Amino acid sequence: DRLSNNFQFLDVGRQDPSKKDIATRKHQFVEIYEPYSKEQVADQSHRCLECGNPYCEWKCPVHNFIPNWLKLISEGNIFEAAELSHQTNTLPEVCGRVCPQDRLCEGACTLNDGFGAVTIGNAEKYITDTAFAMGWRPDMSKVTWTDKKVAIIGAGPAGLGCADVLVRNGVKPVVFDRYPEIGGLLTFGIPEFKLEKTVMSRRREIFTDMGVEFRLNTDVGKDVTMEQLLSDYDAVFMGMGTYTYMKGGFAGEDLPGVYDALPFLVSNVNRNLGFEKSADDFISVAGKRVVVLGGGDTAMDCNRTSIRQGAESVACAYRRDEENMPGSKREVANAREEGVEFLFNRQPVAIVGEDKVEGVKVVTTQLGEPDENGRRRPEPIAGSEEILPADVVLIAFGFRPNPPEWLKDHNVAVNGWGGVEAPEEQEFKFQTSNPKVFAGGDMVRGSDLVVTAIWEGRQAADGILDYLEV
Ligand code: FAD
Ligand code: SF4
Repeated sequence: DRLSNNFQFLDVGRQDPSKKDIATRKHQFVEIYEPYSKEQVADQSHRCLECGNPYCEWKCPVHNFIPNWLKLISEGNIFEAAELSHQTNTLPEVCGRVCPQDRLCEGACTLNDGFGAVTIGNAEKYITDTAFAMGWRPDMSKVTWTDKKVAIIGAGPAGLGCADVLVRNGVKPVVFDRYPEIGGLLTFGIPEFKLEKTVMSRRREIFTDMGVEFRLNTDVGKDVTMEQLLSDYDAVFMGMGTYTYMKGGFAGEDLPGVYDALPFLVSNVNRNLGFEKSADDFISVAGKRVVVLGGGDTAMDCNRTSIRQGAESVACAYRRDEENMPGSKREVANAREEGVEFLFNRQPVAIVGEDKVEGVKVVTTQLGEPDENGRRRPEPIAGSEEILPADVVLIAFGFRPNPPEWLKDHNVAVNGWGGVEAPEEQEFKFQTSNPKVFAGGDMVRGSDLVVTAIWEGRQAADGILDYLEV
């Protein structure tokens, strides 16, 4: 009997859900993990030791009540688990799919000491997917509506986190986004093999039923001004992300055939979702030799999108070793299984070619002293240059903030690297230098994670509620 066995972790090992076969994964833009069955998820959840002071909860940026909902799953109590999971997280089914769990909740699980962490992410995804399929919806029956309304700029995880907390406290959120669908990078960035897009369209319907209003295809600064928002609403929350592409600063970056990561990924999503405005916008790597530069999540997504588009070969060059890669270990493993070749300790120094890209010149590196972040600096080894042949080069060096010019006109201060100043530790959390304007997510902290953007959006909503004295 599962429920009476406190040593389940000794009898049942960690088991991730099975993956689709490799032929499907190489060609189709569909999620690669099969859902858990009811039995599997109950067995896996019951492996939790219910530690008195659960490290997983502290390591989870939104501090989910993990052992509590694992227990509810093992008891088959999915609606209660969904209710509890939504108390701390706005998009649990998204985080379950895309969080780098090996660095967060699962990395902190006590069972890592030789038994294999509980599969927390997949259990979290199961709760919400199953509850929604069974007809569960967030309970809004006890909400008392106020006469306050808040404009939210950006329908990414930060904006949605903010809207969720506001609407549950009776404050009307009106969310503006320049894109035709909600989600920000969840829709226009992260590919379908990690997160199918129906997850976000379902969420749009649920948020709308809860009382959140979306004004999509609306660019703030063009279609509607900040002046207007400040005069029509009681407060404004900004969750506009970071969209300046980092460059390598070496020769050849402007050659035809060299693309920034995000335009490549977005063009692929637009084609798959039917949002493509012109066929010329699509960046195809079919039949080409692709070299991806970078080692984070964006680089992995470029690698795996290239495989699915039918590239002849995909090589990923990264300047440190595998141990020091910033991307999720799970995604690196998935990319490798799908046929990506990793070239570690290779630093690009130039992109070469006559009138189009022909290759990437790299030097081999060795790791030297730690830098200010504690990561060992890559140092080039003299005489180790080589050329990696390429028809297409995708640059995934990360993003810097792109604060809009009009922030200055409204007294919203920006720091030296372009991040909006909105500290958590102050009277009204995440308030900017304009008391009526709050901000969170990538535009405040720099490009980071879905779950940290959700956290900041939710915390900023608490700040707004205090400011509005709701
Ligand atoms: P965004 O998601 O960028 O949303 C900002 C929104 O604001 C956008 O919809 C934009 O259209 C809108 N906007 C901006 N300006 C305006 C304006 N003037 N008017 C109207 N709307 C505006 N994180 C993970 O945790 N796991 C992953 O696997 C992962 N993979 C990633 C893969 C890629 C390719 C990328 C680029 C990022 C990935 N991330 C991942 C990071 C994660 O997606 C971001 O940290 C997160 O989406 C940030 O949320 P946000 O709400 O701050 O901004
Ligand atoms: Fe783990 Fe992310 Fe879920 Fe937190 S939100 S429990 S870190 S998967």
